[in-house]
Amino acid sequence: MSDVPAVSHFTGGTPTVRTRFAPSPTGQMHIGGFRTIVFSWLLAKHGNGQFLIRVEDTDRNRMVEGAVENLLEGLRWMGITPDEGPGVGGPVGPYFQSQRLDHYAYYAAQLLASGHGYRCFCTKERLDELRAEQQARHLPTTGYDRLCRALPQEIIDQNLREGKPFTVRLKVPLDGVTMVPDILRGDVDFQNKTLEDVILMKSDGYPTYHFANVIDDHEMGITHVLRGDDWLPSAPVHVLLYRAFGWQMPIFAHVPNVMGNDGKKLSKRHGAEPILFYRDNGYLPEAVINYLSLLGWSYDDKTDILSVDELIRSFSLDRVHTSGAIFDLERLRWMNGVYIRAMSLEQLAERVLPYMERPAAEGGLPDTIKRPINREMLMRVLRLDQERMKTLADAAQLTAFFFEDELAYPPEWLIGKGLNAAQARDGLQRAYATLADSPEWEHAAMEARMRALAEELGMKPGPLFMGVRVAVTGRKETPPLFETMEVLGRERSLARLRDALAKLEPLVSAAGA
Ligand code: GLU
Repeated sequence: MSDVPAVSHFTGGTPTVRTRFAPSPTGQMHIGGFRTIVFSWLLAKHGNGQFLIRVEDTDRNRMVEGAVENLLEGLRWMGITPDEGPGVGGPVGPYFQSQRLDHYAYYAAQLLASGHGYRCFCTKERLDELRAEQQARHLPTTGYDRLCRALPQEIIDQNLREGKPFTVRLKVPLDGVTMVPDILRGDVDFQNKTLEDVILMKSDGYPTYHFANVIDDHEMGITHVLRGDDWLPSAPVHVLLYRAFGWQMPIFAHVPNVMGNDGKKLSKRHGAEPILFYRDNGYLPEAVINYLSLLGWSYDDKTDILSVDELIRSFSLDRVHTSGAIFDLERLRWMNGVYIRAMSLEQLAERVLPYMERPAAEGGLPDTIKRPINREMLMRVLRLDQERMKTLADAAQLTAFFFEDELAYPPEWLIGKGLNAAQARDGLQRAYATLADSPEWEHAAMEARMRALAEELGMKPGPLFMGVRVAVTGRKETPPLFETMEVLGRERSLARLRDALAKLEPLVSAAGA
């Protein structure tokens, strides 16, 4: 039997709540995985306990470089600080399974000694043939035929002397039922005859998921195992392992997987992206946490805006449902907008600045606009746009015209509906004179004067205002026109109107020719 591993199991007293998220670093995790993280973290924090990250990196062939860093970066952004795990350490580390091989070897030896496990010397070739044959015969269950389960001791000894490689398999009871107690679903029964003698230790000394997962959950003192319900079929194997070792089981909660709105597994098609996508596109971590917390859990039947503190205070497993949760990007955008509108202008400015000051190619303001952005001006501008923003990244596009020196737009836009070029030019000229004469640069006063002008000219205000709007913003859609002009200031607004008049002139001549 191998030596007792250097670090034994959790000794931090009676654990209150210890939860973990146990990613396999086989790719970028999308937002569905983060929902399970949010649940596990909230449960731990609600119970004044600890939340751990444990990296299940035992499948060396499927490892993806950078996957762990990516996950940790996502957690940092969300403000979820694991109490233990990679980069933080903790009393029951290491937190990478590849660094815990001595633990698994130790317990594999125990299972062999107690007869709950057995060595399997079957070669890969034999197992491949077996599978092909089972498939050809369309057997309802395929899987290992348990050839080595009854191997006589002298054959085992001889194989070991010859140095034949072997795996360690679980000796699953041949009949009866294994019951998985799931706190969300009640007791779920599995017929033992449908279970395979799964491999626990591979011939290279690495454990499989089942084995390492159970040992680590035990050693790390995990009290609640939360994971997607696609793991439910693995749970009877875990239950058998806990029993074989005589260990107390954690509470299992197989939470509903997150689906797209077509009821299928979440994917990019549904707008589900890796978590950092949401950071880069101006989502607020507090909104993302709030949104994810409601994918499979509810506070009551109506409340949907809950701060992180409120979530921690109120999260419990008895309001987790078992029906699938649907990811809906539009709803997340809506929720993000609610959080944006709840911010003070100072807060909003603080948070949009990094997005706006990115290079244009990354979604920031046009590169021609000088950085840093004037904060005072930004706050005045944001007051007009806050209502319409769904993400922090929207700010660059919405506000660019306030900061630009020169506007680029097709001059035809200056010609309001139902007008010809000359009428548009005349209207704009009169508008310029009216505004330039305004003693005060205040939106309500400007609007009143401009409405009076439209009446005097016998024009509808719409087409007249459109010319002014395009002139001062370069756009057809803007926040309220006169408030926009007030923020932009007298000088800049009038200069832009002069530019517009110059742009219109060639159109007037062309039409007259
Ligand atoms: N490593 C597994 C995964 O990638 C962990 C499942 C579990 O939480 O037991 O999801």
